[in-house]
Amino acid sequence: MAPAPQRPRHRRMLTLTVRAGERVSPHFRSITLGGDDVRHLERYGYDQSGRLFFADPGNDDVVLPTSERWMLQRTLLSGRRRPRVRSYSIRRFRPETSAFDIEISLHERDGPDAPGTAWALAAEPGDQVAFLDEGYSYRPTAGAGWQLLVGDESALPAILAILEDCADALPAEVFLEVPADDDIRRDVTAPPGTTIHWLPRGVDADSPTKPGSLALRAVRNARLPEGSFYTWVAGEAALAAGVRRYLVGERGVPRSDITFRGYWRHGRAAL
Ligand SMILES: Cc1cc2nc3c(=O)[nH]c(=O)nc-3n(C[C@H](O)[C@H](O)[C@H](O)COP(=O)(O)OP(=O)(O)OC[C@H]3O[C@@H](n4cnc5c(N)ncnc54)[C@H](O)[C@@H]3O)c2cc1C
Repeated sequence: MAPAPQRPRHRRMLTLTVRAGERVSPHFRSITLGGDDVRHLERYGYDQSGRLFFADPGNDDVVLPTSERWMLQRTLLSGRRRPRVRSYSIRRFRPETSAFDIEISLHERDGPDAPGTAWALAAEPGDQVAFLDEGYSYRPTAGAGWQLLVGDESALPAILAILEDCADALPAEVFLEVPADDDIRRDVTAPPGTTIHWLPRGVDADSPTKPGSLALRAVRNARLPEGSFYTWVAGEAALAAGVRRYLVGERGVPRSDITFRGYWRHGRAAL
């Protein structure tokens, strides 16, 4: 069995305001969310994430949820009054200003819709959102001598937060796929002995590479360090499942040493 995710002990629906937005690199926008309600957010760190509720740009009719029973509240609303909901990781806490940052990957849209990306591009100070903590899943196994962290761009915020939060702990081999060279981060804080393999896809309209496939191939071809290790992998569903299948099937890694999370599915919108 994979380690169980850590659900928040106490949580409530937070009403927050966009404080700032900043383009971090060509395919990432960082958004700072803040407000008094941040005091109710338990700080776990690692890949802690939550559901973000928001309105499409220009839609003032949306009713944001006010309770953890958001599903019911949302079902009772229709059309323009129904909020959008997408999951995002907490990239950085800013307790001194009652705020935290999320980082949203601005991905290509193969259909007309990708409300999370559209919201991230348009978000500006003063916009209201709601946020519900979902806890975290990074649970290194006892006895691991190092860790393998794998993801595509949707998992970049979580992986960078994990590396920062366990800076004194296990050295990591990191395989991180990003859309382009300019999305590579140069200033990463990580445990000593960590190696980050950045895998930019680049833009090639004639033979577009499916997100996640570079990272999966790189892990399969990697010479990994000796000794027992913990794996955390997230991103496109085929990447997460593929890494796990490879490690278990071809390298004999116990399932219990792997946390894998399908964050999104190619060709399918969330919710
Ligand atoms: C626990 C958790 C934490 C997450 N943390 C983050 C985070 O910190 N930052 C972040 O950017 N994402 C994160 N994600 C992933 C994000 O929630 C999904 O990518 C989401 O589907 C994006 O919503 P959208 O409205 O932009 O696109 P959707 O409306 O869901 O999808 C529209 C189309 O775009 C495709 N698509 C969706 N996501 C991507 C993508 N990332 N790259 C390329 N194509 C895509 C879909 O397959 C679909 O064809 C997280 C997901 C989970 C479950």
